[in-house]
Amino acid sequence: MRLNRSSWLPIKLFNLISGMTADQKLYEGKAKILYTTDDADVLLAHFKDDATAFNAQKRGSIPGKGAVNCAISSHLFKQLEANDIPTHFIDQPNANEMRVRAVKILPLEVVVRNIAAGSLCQQTGLVLGTILSPPLVEFYYKNDALGDPLLTRDRLLLLKLATPEQVDHLQAMALKINQVLTVFFQECAITLVDFKLEFGLNRNQEIVLADEISPDTCRLWNQTETDPTQRVMDKDRFRHDLGNVESAYQQVMQRVLAHPV
Ligand code: UDP
Repeated sequence: MRLNRSSWLPIKLFNLISGMTADQKLYEGKAKILYTTDDADVLLAHFKDDATAFNAQKRGSIPGKGAVNCAISSHLFKQLEANDIPTHFIDQPNANEMRVRAVKILPLEVVVRNIAAGSLCQQTGLVLGTILSPPLVEFYYKNDALGDPLLTRDRLLLLKLATPEQVDHLQAMALKINQVLTVFFQECAITLVDFKLEFGLNRNQEIVLADEISPDTCRLWNQTETDPTQRVMDKDRFRHDLGNVESAYQQVMQRVLAHPV
């Protein structure tokens, strides 16, 4: 392991990898495992079939999910790159693995909402399905022990989770990503209700989109279904035991992959 990695890998990852050689497990999260490679700049992300919800209080497995989410994420990252949005994506060497640039993940979850759903409805009383115009961008503190709380801009700055310039840049990137993905999904006859993004700093300290974009991290409604339960094509099927989780994810993948970048 080369010690200069310490400056741009998350500290918890660095602590884990001290003494490691290439192709070692670097970090295991709820949905992915990260491995080192021969190239210090490149990591291999292995997408798992494991599923969790409600801050990991609900656990399960969705057969085939790893490969489906890897394929969807890869395609969407390519689409975003084609629209000048920098991402950590390099390529997809096999079904459930993605090669990515190593970045220092910012401890933030950036959520973009086009339609009220989930915690926004629970916390504000807004009716499910209310159109949000302009879209809402929210920042959450990525901290399981604290339950990933919603942050104000001032709290975000207080905790030094990002600089004021970085917050503005993240907000602008999130809105641009939303524009690209909303149009993309619209052309797949899918409504992009809301989604969560994670960003990282590359070795030049530039902000790039990281993690994944998949039915695990988005709310996606099938435009060819009107029934509020039937239309759900995302992790809400798992969260709320709606059934047919696997086939809903497969359906998203088929439509996404059929859409050229
Ligand atoms: N989301 C996510 N990971 C999280 C929390 C939320 O991917 O840890 C996604 C979620 O799938 C949805 C969006 O972010 O597409 C907004 O989620 P919300 O705040 O409504 O929380 P939830 O109702 O899912 O608990």
